[in-house]
Amino acid sequence: MSECIFCRIVRGEIPSKKVYEDEHVYAFHDINPVAPVHVLVVPKQHVDSMAHLTAEHEVAMGRLMVAAGQIARDQGCTDGFRTIINTGRVGLQEVYHLHLHILGGADPLPPMLKR
Ligand code: 5GP
Ligand code: ZN
Repeated sequence: MSECIFCRIVRGEIPSKKVYEDEHVYAFHDINPVAPVHVLVVPKQHVDSMAHLTAEHEVAMGRLMVAAGQIARDQGCTDGFRTIINTGRVGLQEVYHLHLHILGGADPLPPMLKR
C-alpha cells in the first residue's frame, strides 16, 4: 500500500472534504486554500507528477480534465477559474501525486505570477 498522502486520501485513510469522485478521479478541498474556491483533483491511480505521465494515463487524465470543468461550475465558478499543475522541483511541487488545482471565487483572481 502506498504511503503517499493523496493515495491515503483517495482510500479514505486520511479525512478530506470530498467534492467529486468517479472510477478514475477524486476531488477534495485544499486544506490550506489560497482562494475562496480551492479544490484539488487527482487521478486515483498514483503517478508522481505530470512529467511522469505516459499513454497508460490518457483515459484517467482525460476524465480528470472533463471532471475539473464540471467541478468548477458546481463550485459556482461560472464566469471563470484558474487551473494549475505544479510539477517537480522547479515548479515547487510539494506533494508528489499529480494534482490539478482549481482556483476561483474571487473576481478577478490575482495575476498568475508576481513579477
Ligand atoms: P503543490 O504545491 O504540490 O502543487 O500543492 C499541494 C497542495 O496540497 C497544497 O495546496 C496543500 O495545501 C495541499 N495539501 C497538502 N496536504 C494536504 C492534506 O492532507 N489534505 C488536503 N486537503 N490538502 C493538502
Ligand atoms: Zn499517490
